[in-house]
Amino acid sequence: MEFNWQPREVPEVSTPYRRIKTKIPAPETVPFLERLRRIEPRATLSQPPILWHRAEGFSIYDRAGNKWVDFTSGVLVANAGYKREKMHEAMLSQLETGVWHTFLFANEPRARFVEKLREVAPPGLDVVFLLTTGSESTEHALKLMRTFGQTRGGKRKIGIVCFEGAFHGRTLGAQQIGGTPYLKEWIVNLDPDIHMAPFPDCHRCPVGKEGYAECEDECFGQLLSFLEERLGGKDYQGRLAGVITESYQGGEARFMPKGYVERLAEWCRANQILLTFDEVQAGFGRTGKFFAFEHYGVEPDLICCGKGISGCLPLSAVIGRGEIMRQFPPGALTNTHSGNPISCAAALAHLELILEEDLVSKAQALEAVLREEAEAIARACPDIVWPIRVRGLVGAIGLVEPNTKKPAVALAFAAVQRAVEKGLMLFAPVGPGPATIKINPPLIITEDALRDGMAALREAIVECRRELY
Ligand code: PMP
Repeated sequence: MEFNWQPREVPEVSTPYRRIKTKIPAPETVPFLERLRRIEPRATLSQPPILWHRAEGFSIYDRAGNKWVDFTSGVLVANAGYKREKMHEAMLSQLETGVWHTFLFANEPRARFVEKLREVAPPGLDVVFLLTTGSESTEHALKLMRTFGQTRGGKRKIGIVCFEGAFHGRTLGAQQIGGTPYLKEWIVNLDPDIHMAPFPDCHRCPVGKEGYAECEDECFGQLLSFLEERLGGKDYQGRLAGVITESYQGGEARFMPKGYVERLAEWCRANQILLTFDEVQAGFGRTGKFFAFEHYGVEPDLICCGKGISGCLPLSAVIGRGEIMRQFPPGALTNTHSGNPISCAAALAHLELILEEDLVSKAQALEAVLREEAEAIARACPDIVWPIRVRGLVGAIGLVEPNTKKPAVALAFAAVQRAVEKGLMLFAPVGPGPATIKINPPLIITEDALRDGMAALREAIVECRRELY
């Protein structure tokens, strides 16, 4: 589905956090939008057609002075908000040195940043490899798991377990461990040693139960039966090198049941199978813990970070146990933009802001407000809202055809576009359909602004429901 790119007359909006006073998109922004449409592939033009001109805190402005309260953080990147003075100064002072790029030659911001990153990393995960994108970090985790597996079990210990519905990026390896079949149809000859397991989701229970009922043994047992059947034979564990899962699945903010992950971690440990959490969108305070896997109380071998690691510029990392991370000899890991000095200067300042302002606790405290507001939306239209998931400052509201569980794609796109016309910045629907509206404000958002944005979302969903059905 695509958004309507034609400027549309919309009611004026004026709250302390939102201001809409022109057609949307504002006519003066259209020439820029048109340029993009002429030159870029259709596939990149998937977001509501708003030209971001200026941003500050949790507000985004276009050239015409319209103002949005931001529920995107870009795409879960600007966790400490936009135009933060500390980040601005850190980038400027690095810019002034003229050292804007160093490849793998040493630079000061990189040294400071990896040290700080190790301080916040879970105990035992003490080696950091910086890369540029989230996809590179998951690709690298794959390589580390497979290489390590072979040191423990030879050429047969290379299998990777991943989960239906997962997203780990768009490069070849990352797509193969992704759990949305149509995204990887182009590959055709998929790697037979990548095993896509059912995701343990209590809303869509893989063992057919209604709601959570302390059934992790059964649920985890299903994973083992799946693997035994797929791999054949008794010693199937000997053919597995690692498991990778998002700490929560981004599309719908789906967490695994805690007991399931506890069993998974125990089983991995017992069978010399590495456990990797993809924290690319979950980390850096988003869910009310510094890293989202902490909700499970287990110890992974590797974590992949991206997005909110820098708060702005391209940067990602794999953080892991020394014996896994140090498998390759000097020179075997290169990355042109690894540890770019300006990215690292920004990332260090961003990380310090998260810690100094205790944005992790802030996200945790605002969870109740976000849940209350999301439930108010469900009460306003109970026949089309399902499911709702909230943890910290990540929320996901699924929209379905009335009184069914079928994703309502047209409704979700209409509701996002309407919310944007009301001064609430949202990205396009994601998840099944896609028909899930994701709520990811910068962690510095105030309670008042969060409620104001949620009120706009409620109005948008109620109006679009009335118009479409
Ligand atoms: N893993 C997860 C969980 C993600 O959400 C994403 C991006 N949406 C990626 C990996 C890929 O990151 P990038 O787009 O930076 O390659």
